[in-house]
Amino acid sequence: MLQPSLGEPQLTIENPVLAALDIVVAGEAECATPARRHEPHAVEDSGSRLAPLHVRLATGAAVVLPPFGLLAVMVLAWGGWFHWVDLALMGSMYVLTGLGVTIGYHRLYTHKSFATRGPIAVFFAICGSMAVQGPLIWWCATHRKHHQHSDEELDPHSPHAGRAPGVGGAIKGFLHAHIGWLFADITPDMKRYVPDLLADRTTLLISNAFPILVALGLVIPAVIGGLVTMSWMGALLGFLWGGVVRMFLLHHVTWSVNSVCHIWGAKDYASGDESRNNPVMGILALGEGWHNNHHAFPASARHGLKWWQFDLSWVIIRSLEKIGLAKKVRLPGLERLATKRV
Ligand SMILES: [Zn+2]
Ligand SMILES: [Zn+2]
Repeated sequence: MLQPSLGEPQLTIENPVLAALDIVVAGEAECATPARRHEPHAVEDSGSRLAPLHVRLATGAAVVLPPFGLLAVMVLAWGGWFHWVDLALMGSMYVLTGLGVTIGYHRLYTHKSFATRGPIAVFFAICGSMAVQGPLIWWCATHRKHHQHSDEELDPHSPHAGRAPGVGGAIKGFLHAHIGWLFADITPDMKRYVPDLLADRTTLLISNAFPILVALGLVIPAVIGGLVTMSWMGALLGFLWGGVVRMFLLHHVTWSVNSVCHIWGAKDYASGDESRNNPVMGILALGEGWHNNHHAFPASARHGLKWWQFDLSWVIIRSLEKIGLAKKVRLPGLERLATKRV
């Protein structure tokens, strides 16, 4: 059940960007969704230039190598090298690292849609880092910039902003929103978008440990695969299925939230952009595909707002709340839901 409106938010925010994104740094607030505000700010990059070479090389490796992992497991399976544990490792690592991104990176750290104890927050941040989608603080800054400028020129990954007319322009826009933006110099102004996270030593530590955590996400399934089968081949298959193939699948599902969910699906609420609710992505992206709901109510811990909009991340957050491990869970009030309904 959605909570009724609890009255006026008690925001204690000085940063205009965080206030416009309804991010509560201190104090409590009901899940209001103020219109985007464009305060005067230093010039930001629209992503028309390329990222530095070392960033493009690292990104290129993360984009290009996993498909070869997929090819490798297919060839190996054809030759009989497949064990049930490989599929289990891929599924469990997909859900674990996926929830790290959706619950940890996104709903907890970026939007502060609920609060939880330190060790649980750290656990989700570590799982999210293992998804290989960038260091925690960079991810949050980029995503806050996305909300601040959604489908406008400064949006880091809009399929619409600045796109050329015609089918060619639409395809180019889709590819930019899906993968191309990763190679552009989007340079989110960290002090502007994530002052709260920069001031947190634990968050900084996790963000800086990103390369180690990426390696951990590859080593864990390899070790489990090796121990279960007591073989080096089992370790290799664990690494490939639970590490590389899982990374490939989750990458494209997450990127589809940026591309697919800003093009195809229902627009149930007025969000001021082209975000859509896409049922397929709602399931695959563990709740994040109810993207129009999310853009309309960015501070809400629940993205699947209707009973049939399955949102695994919300199920977990609600369960944590029930056992006292999640607090200050933010939901849109009934009045605000009605106001924004299209
Ligand atoms: Zn979006
Ligand atoms: Zn968001």
